[in-house]
Amino acid sequence: MPSKSHYRVVILGSGPAGLTAAVYASRAELQPLVVEGGGGEDSTDVPGGQLMLTTDVDNYPGFPEGILGPELMERMRNQAARFGTEFASGELKKVALSQRPFQLSLDGASVTADTLIVATGARAKWLGLPEELEFRTKIGGVSACATCDGFFYKGKHVLVVGGGDTAMEEATFLSKFAEKVTIVHRRQELRASKTMQTRARQNPKIAWLLDCVIEKIHGGAGQGVTAATVRNLKTGETSEVACGGIFMAIGHTPNTAVFAGQLKSDEQGYLLVHDGTSATSVPGVFAAGDVADHRYRQAITAAGSGCMAAIDAERFLSHR
Ligand code: NAP
Repeated sequence: MPSKSHYRVVILGSGPAGLTAAVYASRAELQPLVVEGGGGEDSTDVPGGQLMLTTDVDNYPGFPEGILGPELMERMRNQAARFGTEFASGELKKVALSQRPFQLSLDGASVTADTLIVATGARAKWLGLPEELEFRTKIGGVSACATCDGFFYKGKHVLVVGGGDTAMEEATFLSKFAEKVTIVHRRQELRASKTMQTRARQNPKIAWLLDCVIEKIHGGAGQGVTAATVRNLKTGETSEVACGGIFMAIGHTPNTAVFAGQLKSDEQGYLLVHDGTSATSVPGVFAAGDVADHRYRQAITAAGSGCMAAIDAERFLSHR
C-alpha cells in the first residue's frame, strides 16, 4: 500500500526503464512511487519486467562477466530504494489524465500524481503451447529475444517462428552463432519488408518451413529443447524436427490498454512520444522503455529512456 495519497512522480513499471527513472527521480529528491506491476492477465507479468524471465545478460554494460536478469533487476531496485524510492505492488486499474493531479486507482488504493512516468513495457507474444512455459527461462530452451540469448546457441540448429521483420532479423542474427536456422511460418507469404526477406533468403544458413506451425515442443530436464513437432497446414502432415532451441518472433503487445483513449498511441498500441523526448500527448505524462519502443527493445535502451523520462518529469515540475 502506498504510504501517501499524493506523489510528485509516480512511475508505473519496475523493469529497467521504471527503475532507472526511479534512481534519477529519487536522487532529484522527488520521492517517487514505483508501482511494480505483476498479476496481470499474463503469467509473465512479474515485477522487474521481462528481464526476470531471462538468464544471463551479457550485453548490459558494466558487467563484463555477465549477470543474471533477476539479479540485475534486484540491483537496480536496491539502487532506487537507496535514494528513497517507495515501492507499491499491484496493478494500475484505472487512470484519469484529463486533469492534474492525475488520479490513479491501484489494487486497493487511490493516489494522485503531479507527473506520471509510464514504463509498463511490452510482452512478447507466445504460441500458447503448454511446453513453452517450461522451457522459457532455460538456456537451450524457448526465447523471444535473439539479441539477448542468441550467443548461447552456438553450433545448434534453432527454429525461428514468424514471418515478420523481427523473424527475419532474429534469424539473420542467429545465423552468426547457430549451425543452422529454420524459419517456421504459418503462411507461404512473408509479412517482412522486401529488404529483410532478401537478406534472410540469401543467407545459406537459413532454411524455411513455410505453411507450417509448431504443434509440440520436445525436450527434458537438463536437456533443454530437443525437437519440435511441425505440422504443414497445406498437406496436414506432421514431422519431428530436431533442434536445440526455438525463438518466437510473432510480435509484441505493449501494456497500454489502461491508457486507451487518453494517451496517443500508434496502431499497435505503442505510446507516441514527441521526437527526442519522453513526452506523451498529455503534458506531465512521460513514457519510457518498451511501452514506447518497438524498435530497439533492449534493457540498456529502456534504462536510457527511463533516465530521459525522469529528467523530463523533473524539468516539467520545476517549470510549474
Ligand atoms: P509482425 O510484423 O506483427 O509479424 C508477426 C509475425 O508472426 C507474422 O508473420 C505473423 O504471421 C506471425 N504470427 C503472429 N501470431 C502468430 C501465431 N500465433 N502463430 C504463428 N505465427 C504467428 O511483428 P514483428 O515482426 O515483431 O514486427 C513488429 C513491427 O516492428 C513491424 O512494424 C516491423 O516492421 C517492425 N520491425 C522493424 C524492424 C526493422 O526495421 N529493423 C525489425 C523488427 C521489427 P502472419 O504474417 O500470418 O500474420
